[in-house]
Amino acid sequence: MIVFCEECGKKYRIDPAKIKGTAASFKCRSCSHRIVVPKPPPPESQPQTPPAPSIEQVTTTTIERLRRRR
Ligand SMILES: [Zn+2]
Repeated sequence: MIVFCEECGKKYRIDPAKIKGTAASFKCRSCSHRIVVPKPPPPESQPQTPPAPSIEQVTTTTIERLRRRR
C-alpha cells in the first residue's frame, strides 16, 4: 500500500503485513512528521460484515502500546 506524508507529501511504500494490531506509525524521513498508518481490511473481508463500533478507541490504544515499547 502507498502512504503519503501529510506534511511534506513524501510517498512511502508500506507492507500491510508488517502492521501489527489496528495501526502503525513511523516518522517521515524528510520532515519528521509522525505518520499513522491504519491497517487496511483484508481483501477477503466480506462487505456484509458490520464495521467495528469503536475503531478510533482501538487505534488510540494500539498507538499507546507502540509508544510504551520504546
Ligand atoms: Zn514528511
